[in-house]
Amino acid sequence: MQLTFWGVRGSIPTPGADTRAWGGNSSCLEVRHADWPPLVLDCGTGARGLGFKLVAEHHRELDLLFTHLHMDHVFGFPFFVPIYTPGYQVRVGVPAFSDDEAREKLARYLNGVYHPTRIRELPAEVRFRALRSGRTIQAGRFVVEPISLTHPGGSLGYRIEAAGVRVGYITDTAPFVPPGEGVMAGKAPPRAEQRIIDFLRGCDLVVYDTMYTRAEYLEKMTWGHSYPEYAVSLCEAAAVQHLVLFHHLPDATDADLDERQEQWARHTPLRVTLAREGDTLDLGGQ
Ligand SMILES: [Zn+2]
Ligand SMILES: [Zn+2]
Repeated sequence: MQLTFWGVRGSIPTPGADTRAWGGNSSCLEVRHADWPPLVLDCGTGARGLGFKLVAEHHRELDLLFTHLHMDHVFGFPFFVPIYTPGYQVRVGVPAFSDDEAREKLARYLNGVYHPTRIRELPAEVRFRALRSGRTIQAGRFVVEPISLTHPGGSLGYRIEAAGVRVGYITDTAPFVPPGEGVMAGKAPPRAEQRIIDFLRGCDLVVYDTMYTRAEYLEKMTWGHSYPEYAVSLCEAAAVQHLVLFHHLPDATDADLDERQEQWARHTPLRVTLAREGDTLDLGGQ
């Protein structure tokens, strides 16, 4: 399985001289295995480049899963070329209670007001389906389980399995317990935290929202984002192999992210790296 980062930034795209090395596009990941149809996670501005690449391939179907519909995860959807490609089947998964609600949520954005395109005019075959925590789905040939996270308005994390490889995609989310409790404080995890540890247990790789530093989190505890030390504690409790820090703060410059990378470079036994736009991680698999 391979994972490619097309957008690693949180909240708002940040083009410019200070973000060139790590990337300024907002959340979008491409998951591939063998010659299977692609799986796309979130549709931030990174999705524009990904879309051009995908339509140049022979596949004419893909799955796109949204964690939630905050703008930084949706900006790229109306610029994602597969939805304008006749004959292309795009299956769109959205956290919702019904397939109609899933469609309606994106139709509010593609309605002729916020974007000139209307959802009913899309040339591709675009199908919408509701995703719910705990209800495992088949996304093409990938098996995906959603889990609810801690974020204003809600969001879903995903565990993706294929060919004996397990990947967790956990963004956007605050810590599952208040400061001073749970694994971060060296205590037994309360139920809410045990649930996410069990969910991530044994993952080969976990991509995790670490937008803040610990100090920033303590100032913005209700904003729904996490920090590296917390993600590390959780992933170590879950015996994860490799943690990728993700959803970088818009204010974080290349120099800041270089420093963060340096800080975690020698951490063991959990391997900790930072998501960089354009990087592909090869996770092996049968
Ligand atoms: Zn976000
Ligand atoms: Zn969000």
